[in-house]
Order: sequence, then C-alpha cells, then structure tokens
Amino acid sequence: MKKRIAALTFLSVLLSLASVPCIAFAGASTPLLRTAPGFPDVLAAAEDAASAPVKYAVLRGDFHIHTPYSDGKLTPAERVREAWKYGYDVIAITDHRDFRAYAEALPVAEQFGLILIRGMETGLHEMEHLVTLDFAADYVPRDPHSWADAEGGPRVYYREQWRKLTDAGGFVLLAHPHIGHSGDCEWVAETGDPLDPPLRHGLREPIRWALREGLLHGIEVRNHTTDRGWGVVKDRGTLWYPMALDWAQEYGLTVFANSDVHPARDQAGNAHEPQSATLLLVRERTPKGVMEALRAGRTVAHFGGMLCGRKEMVATLLRGLTRVDFRGGEDGAGQVRIENHGPVALTAEVNGSGLDPVTVDADQTAILKLTEAPKQLSITWANAVIRSTKSLTTLHARVD
Ligand SMILES: [Zn+2]
Ligand SMILES: [Zn+2]
Repeated sequence: MKKRIAALTFLSVLLSLASVPCIAFAGASTPLLRTAPGFPDVLAAAEDAASAPVKYAVLRGDFHIHTPYSDGKLTPAERVREAWKYGYDVIAITDHRDFRAYAEALPVAEQFGLILIRGMETGLHEMEHLVTLDFAADYVPRDPHSWADAEGGPRVYYREQWRKLTDAGGFVLLAHPHIGHSGDCEWVAETGDPLDPPLRHGLREPIRWALREGLLHGIEVRNHTTDRGWGVVKDRGTLWYPMALDWAQEYGLTVFANSDVHPARDQAGNAHEPQSATLLLVRERTPKGVMEALRAGRTVAHFGGMLCGRKEMVATLLRGLTRVDFRGGEDGAGQVRIENHGPVALTAEVNGSGLDPVTVDADQTAILKLTEAPKQLSITWANAVIRSTKSLTTLHARVD
C-alpha cells in the first residue's frame, strides 16, 4: 500500500512536471541532445573601406514549418524542441492560414534560447504559396492562401492583401517556386500545357508584379519536402530549384533552404538526408538581428552538401570558413595550403594546375604541390554555388 502511494505520488509529480514543456520532454532519464552546427563567426569587409571589418555570427534557420494548426503533426512546443535538437538557432512556424502557433511556441523557445519569428503560409488560390514572416501581431488575414488573381470576385484581390501584409511589416518569400496547379489539381505550366517530366518554371504576373513593386523579399531555392510534381530539378545529386537561385541573384531576393516539415523530422520521407538550413549572417543573435539579416539578404542556403546563395554572401561565408595560403618555391614550383575551419566539406579545384579537385573535410587542411607558381592562383569551389550553373571562384595572390 505504502509503495502504491509512493508510486502515485511519483506519478502525480510526473504529471505536474508534464505541464512544464521543457521538463516533460527531457524526462527523468532521457537527455535531450543537440547537434551543434559549429560555424565560426565570419568577418566581412565594411562597406566603407576605412572602417573595421564587420563580425557576423552564423545562425542555422528554418523558416517554413507546420503544426496541427494546419496540416503538420507536431505541436508548436514540440517543433521548438525538435528544432533545438537538430541544431537550429532560429525558426518560424508557418501554418497555412494561421499564426496561433507563435504565441504558443514562444515561451518554449525562450526556455531553449531559440529565436522564434512570427510566421504564416499564405498566397494565391491554389497557385503561388507565400511564406510571410515578422508581420504585426494585429494583422488580420483576409482569404489567406486563397487570394484571387483578378479584381471584383468574392475573394480578395492579391494586390490588395499582399500590400496589407507588407504594410503590417511582413517579409514575404516565395515558397517552393513551381508554377502552380489548376482547380482540379492537375499541375500545369504557365502555358496551360501539362508537362511530364514536371519542369514548371517561370514567374506568373502576381510574382512579377510583386517584384516590380518591391513586395517580394525572398525565395526558397530548396524546400526539403517538395519532390516530383512540385517543379524541382535533380541537379548536383539533390532536388532543388536552381532557377530560383538565378532569380534571387537577378532580383536581389534573400535565399532560403527551408524544411516545410509536416511530420516529425525523423518520420519524413527523406529523414536520412541531412536537414536543409538557411544560414544567416547576423550582427546580433536576436529576432531583430535575424530580421535585419533577412532584409539585407545575408543568407546562404545549406543543403545537399552545398553552400548556395548570392555571390557576395557565399564569398563572405567562404572567406570566413577557409584560409588559403599560396607560396612559390625557389625551383619555380608552388604550394597551396587550404584550411577548412567550417563544418561543411568543401571541394576545391586549383584552375590550370592539372590537379583533380580536392575535397577538404570539416576542420581539415590540404596541401597541394603545384608545378608552377603564377602570381595569382584561381580556385573554384565546386559546392559553393552562386548561379544555377556556376560555382564560386576566388583569387589568391602568391606570397613570396
Ligand atoms: Zn506550400
Ligand atoms: Zn508549407
């Protein structure tokens, strides 16, 4: 009997602890372990040459996540714990048509030291999906996710609602940038022709309008969930939206690699792949610092072993992660030493050397002997991608 009371007391203590989200998850015997990303801070030259370089922390972000407030499986609190466990520093929960998850997740995020940004998925009726971040708490969505292409119908015209959203401070990014589908869910290209294989690329008038008006701020070059049927291209061994990288470069959009996760991450179809992440170069680790970086376009998409983004950002991050030392010898030969101080393996090709590309793993150093030592060395980093068909090339002067 005594034993039973003790057991009941223990159970009631457990139940009372269960109301505290953090402790309930950790339990008495199950440690919650975080896989840290290990990116070092990076230094970037100041815009004004006379000023000291700017130091950025590199954060791992995911700005597209679902909970039961739409069609996701984990609660907002569970999403925070999961994100923390997977090494994210900042997330936005972005349910279709709904942003109640933010208020619910915020106290848990604060416990874990995870930055949380208010988010929601919205957009045009059965066409473009838009993820919106950091809009004011009193923004009242009208026909969310169901905006009309044309004026005068029962649903709100996209131009009106898009402006309301950005007037409320919303940062807007184009999610999984395929073309869209018609009412009967038959996926079609802009021409109206069904395509197989599904290469449904292009930007319809609503997106072109938003670009002209400066109301589209970002784009997913990788959505960890979308596959065939969502206009993805298999390129460099992974499914992504290479054309979206070109659009980001051309239109000055912030680049994202988001999960769009619906089930638990370890239950998703591609759970075996490393999680995609939007890397941010922030001046401060706060919601304000995150939004400043997003609005300034300081992101690099990390997925499929790639660092992928606008040229200046990929170059800044790569400079921060590597050290290249190139020297000439007395015999006219040269030597290049490549240090990788980051957590991502980098594949470098010394142009004109005749050497095969070398992969320098995380925290590894490679020394390459060269038959010649020109004044300047050019290295192409195969997995640092700045265009759909182009990798970053850096130049290194010979140290004599
Ligand atoms: Zn979507
Ligand atoms: Zn989504």
